[in-house]
Amino acid sequence: MKDKEDDALLAQVAALLDSPEHVGHPLHDALQRLYLHHCDQQVQVQRLIDISDRYQSLAMEARQVTEQRYQRALRRQRKLSRISDGYQALMHERNQALHQASTHDPLTGLPNRRLIIERLEEFVRQRRRFTLTLLDIDHFKRINDCHGHDVGDRLLVAITQTLSATLRDYDLCARWGGEEFLLLLADTDRNEARSIVERLRSCLAAVTLRAGDQTISVTVSAGLSQHRPGDPHQTTLMRADQALLKAKRAGRDRSLSDSI
Ligand code: GH3
Ligand code: MG
Ligand code: MG
Repeated sequence: MKDKEDDALLAQVAALLDSPEHVGHPLHDALQRLYLHHCDQQVQVQRLIDISDRYQSLAMEARQVTEQRYQRALRRQRKLSRISDGYQALMHERNQALHQASTHDPLTGLPNRRLIIERLEEFVRQRRRFTLTLLDIDHFKRINDCHGHDVGDRLLVAITQTLSATLRDYDLCARWGGEEFLLLLADTDRNEARSIVERLRSCLAAVTLRAGDQTISVTVSAGLSQHRPGDPHQTTLMRADQALLKAKRAGRDRSLSDSI
């Protein structure tokens, strides 16, 4: 509205200046200069407005570009985080699998020699009471020879399941070698161990496996030795091994304790 009024006023002034009847009027010259000065200023103001508009649209474009870059960087960052999280989870899984593989026997899933020795050393360091038992399946070679290695493997797994189910939660049972198992009976003396092992032996003797039309079962021999405080674990192990050897020599299918 204001612009229209201004335009109308300017047109009126221009018409007055153009009109020949006002030429020579004392105000004509001054009004014409004022008119031209105003027109110049209008042109300059318009130019400033144009510059400001251009500057604003450039600033807006720059902001949009920055915003787009920021969003792109954010998406890339999130993607990298997801990849890194996935990678870390994978590493964790692999580490666990590696740890499991290095401390457990693949066939039976039982702790292996390395793990039980670590635990033994811990027990010795902490001066805890324990009895070791070496269990060995009697005449296991015959099973393989008569029925094949696969049947032998299945029997080892079945024996392991019974062993794990029969032992107390705080005992540890490891696969010591082929058909030999080492039991770490925690806070247990020779006499308690003896009755645990006898119960275990009768459970193991009751394990049966079907192979073709035959039913297979085995007996086990055991050698026990109660740890003597101050001894290294190797000594206790050696005594358990000697007791096992005696049990085998005495006719198998029995448990014997080491002589004190
Ligand atoms: P003993 O009563 O004197 O202990 O006789 P044994 O036949 O049990 O003992 P021996 O040491 O002569 O044989 C052990 C057998 O155990 C021989 C070996 O092939 C078998 N064995 C060892 N590890 C495995 C295994 O992982 N799977 C199978 N199927 N057999 C195994
Ligand atoms: Mg054997
Ligand atoms: Mg053996």
